[in-house]
Amino acid sequence: MPRPILATIDTQAMANNLALVTNRMLTESVSGSEIFIWAVIKAHAYGHGIKQGVRAFTRADGLAMLDLDEAIQCRELGWTKPILLLEGFFDESDLAVITEHNLTFTVHNPYQLDVLERAKIHKPVNVFLKLNSGMHRLGFQPDEFDAAYARLLALKKAGKIDEIGKMTHFAKADEDPVQTKEQLDLFKQITDPFDGPVSVCNSAATLTPGIAASFHSGVQWVRPGICLYGSSPFADQSASFIGLQPAMTLSSQLISTHLLKAGESIGYGHVFTADHDIRVGIVACGYADGYPRHAVSGTPITVAGIKTRLVGRVSMDMLAVDLEPVPEAKIGSAVVLWGKDGPPIDDVATACGTIAYELMCALAPRVPREFI
Ligand SMILES: *Cc1c(COP(=O)(O)O)cnc(C)c1O
Repeated sequence: MPRPILATIDTQAMANNLALVTNRMLTESVSGSEIFIWAVIKAHAYGHGIKQGVRAFTRADGLAMLDLDEAIQCRELGWTKPILLLEGFFDESDLAVITEHNLTFTVHNPYQLDVLERAKIHKPVNVFLKLNSGMHRLGFQPDEFDAAYARLLALKKAGKIDEIGKMTHFAKADEDPVQTKEQLDLFKQITDPFDGPVSVCNSAATLTPGIAASFHSGVQWVRPGICLYGSSPFADQSASFIGLQPAMTLSSQLISTHLLKAGESIGYGHVFTADHDIRVGIVACGYADGYPRHAVSGTPITVAGIKTRLVGRVSMDMLAVDLEPVPEAKIGSAVVLWGKDGPPIDDVATACGTIAYELMCALAPRVPREFI
């Protein structure tokens, strides 16, 4: 029998989450607006697999990602709708692949404009020009945007570019609607004079009333990622409260149980000491599977359907759980590290001082996947 660890990827949950976002957009949108959804599948669909992303998000209007190879894979899997490369192209040689596969891409720096001006492009491409409205990561500064747009317009006249969209990214959409509104206002001020579809919203902005679909009465492409995989983008709203379903479940089994006597400590560094006799279980899951090593004692884990807690430090291949709440637990008992019938991935991430994005993306290649 193989080691009992397993990641179950639920493409139906992913499709349901997309449907929920789509419905929220429809109720939010102002008259005259047309909402399109880029389902973000970067980083191997946040660890869920490109193939699963393509399958689950067939009803999305487009797919957004970073990697040219992943984009090609989507085309090979039969995806014919738009594909957006969120970081644009990296090298002039990428442009041949981009035109061949009809990919849309972000233009965020003058280097890319220089390349577009000198490159031979036989088929016009669609682009989104990115404004730095306050994230200060990628994009043209507000006082550079007009000139950059003019250069794209010249390229359009030269037949190299078809449609020019306008794009930005929020820094604090998950926690600060006031600052997000400021970024949005700046975006509108700078880009409203120019034609074209807009794209500004990540999951948090997409799910925030008043930002979401309601600010623009034209074509808007929202860019939800994390919520499609069943994690809440907000610290103060759980995924289940929003109505999102977990797409990734990490499960394993107990491979040993024993009594940890009062005063005894468990695992590397002896960071957990029993203050009374407790039964503990050893789970076949460690940081080499992608479970975070910095998870602290107390991090929620479900054993045989009952919520209990991690004790001691996470090892490479194993971790220990408190079996006091689960007296019937024995070798072979089912363990859920996160996901369906276990703790929400957001709760595990919080206990580890991180976010669900990191846990999903860090799921190790050695963990077998089952797709439902
Ligand atoms: C990752 C990313 C998104 C999606 O963000 P989520 O928080 O996962 O919804 C949207 N836009 C850009 C530019 C991104 O890099």
